[in-house]
Amino acid sequence: MFTTANGTTVGRIGQGTWYLGEVPTREARETAALRCGIEQGMNLLDTAEMYGDGAAERLVGKVIRDYDRESLFLVSKVYPFHADESHIYSSCEQSLRRMATDYMDLYLLHWRGKVPLSETVDCMEELCARGKIRYWGVSNLDLTDMQELERLSCGGHCVTNQVLYHLGSRGVEYELLPWMVHRNMMLMAYCPLAQGGQLRRGLWESPVIQKLAAEHNATPAQILLAFLLTRPGVLPIPCSSSPEHTLENGSALRLRLSPEELRQLEDAFPAPRHRVPLDIV
Ligand code: NDP
Repeated sequence: MFTTANGTTVGRIGQGTWYLGEVPTREARETAALRCGIEQGMNLLDTAEMYGDGAAERLVGKVIRDYDRESLFLVSKVYPFHADESHIYSSCEQSLRRMATDYMDLYLLHWRGKVPLSETVDCMEELCARGKIRYWGVSNLDLTDMQELERLSCGGHCVTNQVLYHLGSRGVEYELLPWMVHRNMMLMAYCPLAQGGQLRRGLWESPVIQKLAAEHNATPAQILLAFLLTRPGVLPIPCSSSPEHTLENGSALRLRLSPEELRQLEDAFPAPRHRVPLDIV
């Protein structure tokens, strides 16, 4: 589990920010949503220089003004084409400026591009040494890329791989997740709600999810999150622009699925029994 700079444990559910901060008239509600999450213990905020061309990072900067910075865990991502020694230091500096902070808790390579992994790793280590970031990690890397990373000098310092993972897309369970768990490396699950169901038609409406939601007096979103929370080493980062939805997502922590209920989900949405390519958006 991650900890913040003051030693606070990071909540089991984080908050995404993709598409937030882009429309001024929505800002007040989005700010309220992120605050509502922080106040429920969802103290990890995930953003990226890519999101709204820095708009999401700016929103994060406004939201965190009201909190003790050291009780929060800020994650941002660098574009693959900025992940080399000529660009990464200024990319990181600009992200920090937009978030109005002087350090990031975690900095991720957003996906693998043409820059050699070894160069990115050296830069990430240098950013740690300069105190600009506390930890570094990667995103959208499949197992073979992770193995290549691990063989590099300091490659083992990578603390996470952020990948797409939800009940309707369980390819990571075959090899990547066990490999990461074995190394005590957190898997940050993006699109944990399948983007409100858009990524897998019929997922939210499926009879089993509807039934379990009704039995637990819960919502489909909470069932999807409760499923991921049964996986050790998995940290879902749902995104919401609505305080009501954020409250709902945070409450998923209190929802316990029984072994029989998990079996029903397993039957309806089985994990693949062979290697499948990493799902991405
Ligand atoms: P999510 O699976 O988190 O789904 C977000 C959608 O679900 C929004 O439309 C939101 O709408 C809706 N939603 C959220 N909570 C509820 C709820 N309780 N009930 C009903 N609808 C709900 O998708 P994201 O793509 O946003 O992924 C999460 C985060 O992961 C991103 O924001 C980003 O930070 C990260 N990410 C990382 C990627 C990478 O390449 N590393 C790629 C994609 C995402 P509403 O606003 O109305 O609540």
